[in-house]
Amino acid sequence: MGHLKCRRVPVTPLRQNCMVVSNETERAVVIDPGGDVADILVALGDVQVEAILLTHGHLDHAGGADELRAVLSEKQGARVPVLGPDRRDAFLLESICDQAAAFGLPGMRNVVPDQFLEHGAQLSLLGSSFDVRHVPGHTPGHVVFVNEEQGCSFVGDTLFRQTVGRTDFAYGDSEGLINAIRSELLSLPGEMIVYCGHGMPTTIEEERKNNPFFQ
Ligand SMILES: [Zn+2]
Repeated sequence: MGHLKCRRVPVTPLRQNCMVVSNETERAVVIDPGGDVADILVALGDVQVEAILLTHGHLDHAGGADELRAVLSEKQGARVPVLGPDRRDAFLLESICDQAAAFGLPGMRNVVPDQFLEHGAQLSLLGSSFDVRHVPGHTPGHVVFVNEEQGCSFVGDTLFRQTVGRTDFAYGDSEGLINAIRSELLSLPGEMIVYCGHGMPTTIEEERKNNPFFQ
């Protein structure tokens, strides 16, 4: 199969990187549509969306998923499923509206995924395979999506360029996060591209060498 095209669409005032991943046959998946659904629809154009993937339950990643699912399902004439995160983030997906009200962010909705995802699951999308890995610590049910064949990964708020995700929540676990990143991400091939939930992409090799949390 051909090369997948990965585009970042920054959404919400938190500038979260919603990812539009598409192939040569005009099919796509959307990862973490946190909001600004109109902007995501413009980025999608006329491609057929196979699924909406969620890395975790935070509002800037999941707040637009319910609306995007509704719009795309209507447009495409068949349900476009929301897949992920791990079930342990259900409590966050159920409180998006409340969190959004507290942040003063309009238009966000709670979302019930069509399917929660477990560690080790493999998703066949875009004629390619995406591995699901559980990387908890930022949230209890955080998952990442790894496409070894294409050499790219979508890691939400786990690993960032020279830093890691916040863990200063009641449910955060900094040691758990570091350990999970080490075992599930830093063990990947060095040249693998890492698309982060915020900011610029990086590579596994760059983070092994330069990320202060892993020296
Ligand atoms: Zn987050």
